[in-house]
Amino acid sequence: MADSIRNNKMNVRVLYNRLLDSNKVAFANVVWCSLAMPKHRFIFWQAALGHLLTRDKLLMCHLHIASDLCSVCEEVQESHSHLFFECSFSHQLRTRLENWLGKATWLSRYADWHLWMEGKPKGLVQKVAAATFAAAVYLIWKNRNKCIFEHRSWSIDFVVHQIRYAVKVRLSRAPKIKIKSRDLAVFDYMLHL
Ligand SMILES: [Zn+2]
Repeated sequence: MADSIRNNKMNVRVLYNRLLDSNKVAFANVVWCSLAMPKHRFIFWQAALGHLLTRDKLLMCHLHIASDLCSVCEEVQESHSHLFFECSFSHQLRTRLENWLGKATWLSRYADWHLWMEGKPKGLVQKVAAATFAAAVYLIWKNRNKCIFEHRSWSIDFVVHQIRYAVKVRLSRAPKIKIKSRDLAVFDYMLHL
């Protein structure tokens, strides 16, 4: 904060930016990657902070729920760690995404997730990985809600298709992402694998 004062005068702009930086979460750059759809970023942000109302959190709030089991697999208690990493549905989805974009796309533990996200996504490949991850988190959460309220789950094929479609649309329309035509052709090929 001292660097906002020079010659006994305070630079409000520098002070404001310093205050913003001091509150910045390490993984903000990955979560708010411009290539991800806004609704995906919001759920991704809530999931990364552990703020989604999974059933373990509802129990901690002393709310009465009929079951604390995962709404998707109904095998173990629902938590962020289980829903996004350990659940059979997420595990199958991770395998499909790894076959598509490589092992670096998805880590296997919630604890590793924050470490992976602490860097700023550089280059198109990392931004695609961040957008893919955000779309996957959003659709896993949406499928969880579908299981609760409609008592049925999407297929893995449907979710993979939705993720690819979302990333492809953002690649072709995101105004801040500059893509060379040859790169777009490569990703167009990948999205149709
Ligand atoms: Zn589960």
